Amino acid sequence: MTKIVAVLYSGGKHAQEEPRLLGTVENKLGIADWLKEQGHELVVTDDKEGAGSAFRQHVKDAEIVITTPFHPGYLTKEVLDEAKNLKCCITAGVGSDHVDLDVANQRGISVYEVTGSNVVSVAEHVVMTILNLVRNFVPANQQYLGGGWNVSEVARDTYDLEGKVVGTLGSGRIGSRVLQRLKPFDCAKLTYYDYQRNEALERDTGAERREDLKQFLSELDVLTINCPLYPETKGLINAEKLSWLKKGAWIVNTARGAIVDAQAVKDALASGHIRGYGGDVSSIQPAPKDHPFRTAFYKSQAPNGNAMTPHVSGTSIDAQARYAAGTKEILRRYFAGEKQEPANVIVEGGAYATKAYGQRK
Ligand code: NAD
Repeated sequence: MTKIVAVLYSGGKHAQEEPRLLGTVENKLGIADWLKEQGHELVVTDDKEGAGSAFRQHVKDAEIVITTPFHPGYLTKEVLDEAKNLKCCITAGVGSDHVDLDVANQRGISVYEVTGSNVVSVAEHVVMTILNLVRNFVPANQQYLGGGWNVSEVARDTYDLEGKVVGTLGSGRIGSRVLQRLKPFDCAKLTYYDYQRNEALERDTGAERREDLKQFLSELDVLTINCPLYPETKGLINAEKLSWLKKGAWIVNTARGAIVDAQAVKDALASGHIRGYGGDVSSIQPAPKDHPFRTAFYKSQAPNGNAMTPHVSGTSIDAQARYAAGTKEILRRYFAGEKQEPANVIVEGGAYATKAYGQRK
């Protein structure tokens, strides 16, 4: 019998009304009965913060931890040190930065994720958010719902995406899909910055690669961030890098909140240096009520320039079906002693299997 702990978000009445909300505590990724039939123990919780939490108590003797990036159970060094039996961490989704990957390597703990499961979902959200910001949709909608009709108030910050320069920081599965989807918008230029060259993307979209970060950022009207979070990308987009962007640029970050300095973003919006910021990720999740993104507005005029949502882009109903099925398949292979799908392996046998978390050899 294997003990498995799953940290998922609570669905409440929504999970009861919509059983396809699989990534919830209530619907348990649809794997509870399947695990029970095989005699395994599954503990599911959303209580994840602090030493006294259910997650911290149960992780001590669990062999497998499953968590989603939307409500992550953080597997820091401290938690991993307590998790003496842990052999396998599964990310029900994409992005395993909630695990201290170096410590997992030292301990020989495997980390798998359901690679590709929600990359279309996120790419669509990115395109939507870019359009929301550039077209100034949020203030226009709020004005309308509030009974107003002042066209100039919103039109003064409304632009066309056509003719703008859009660049992705990270051109993997999501970054490349964002540029593919933007191709018909007739942007002036599509560019990317990534230490891995993506020739297919260049061929398909005409995207130009930039090898110098300052040059990359200084050309952009729209920056979209699509690289993983790891020590070298933590705080990468700080006050200095923001100052390299063109005045009036927009930023969309659905990758991870900690890649940007949230207070520096808020300051750059307030000063008018950047015109908008959107995305769905925060350095701590759920984002605290006083998180800078909750009150970050262009020239301090609420709600201008803020297109934030809770972490929802990668957890559409369609994505949940894919990452739930992918999690089950990873478990099936684990129990059967079969090799995992190579693309799903982040670390295994004490080494990185992916090049996405830094230029790993
Ligand atoms: P991927 O592995 O296919 O691509 C990541 C790319 O980033 C790689 O090409 C890698 O070389 C590049 N990269 C790494 N470090 C870089 C750096 N310092 N500068 C420039 N490029 C760098 O991953 P993906 O599927 O495209 O996902 C990317 C990230 O998006 C995930 O790691 C995760 O954090 C985030 N994500 C968010 C959601 C969501 O719901 N908001 C869902 C899925 C993924």
